[in-house]
Amino acid sequence: MTKDEILNMEEGIQLDILIAERVMGACAHYWKIVPREDDDGVCRICQKCHLEFWGLRPPVYGENYDSYSTNISAALDVIVKMENNDYWWTADNIVPNSDPVVYHWRFSKAGKRYDSNYDFSLPLAICHAALLTTIEE
Ligand SMILES: [Zn+2]
Repeated sequence: MTKDEILNMEEGIQLDILIAERVMGACAHYWKIVPREDDDGVCRICQKCHLEFWGLRPPVYGENYDSYSTNISAALDVIVKMENNDYWWTADNIVPNSDPVVYHWRFSKAGKRYDSNYDFSLPLAICHAALLTTIEE
């Protein structure tokens, strides 16, 4: 992904999955249905981590992600994870005279800066900045 592609991502499940995988270190399972060898049934195998799921109703995208880009509580988990990886953050939470309010978030490490655009939601700004740290540019 490029910087522009990341900064143009809207809030939602696709961004949440990228955060789960690239920032939080989780597998956002991608299930494929496969036949079982020992009977006529089927099971599901994650195409990424090869976990097998035998139940009836696996979540479409797995259980290892949260609503990071829309839920401030989940976005705080992203901040904690980044801090544990030696990133520090700054925020210009409110740009004066803007309507609606926009948010700007930055993670920094070893002199490198990763700045979100001016986003309309704080969780989105946090996710944009966090995801930028996962690409080389
Ligand atoms: Zn998986």
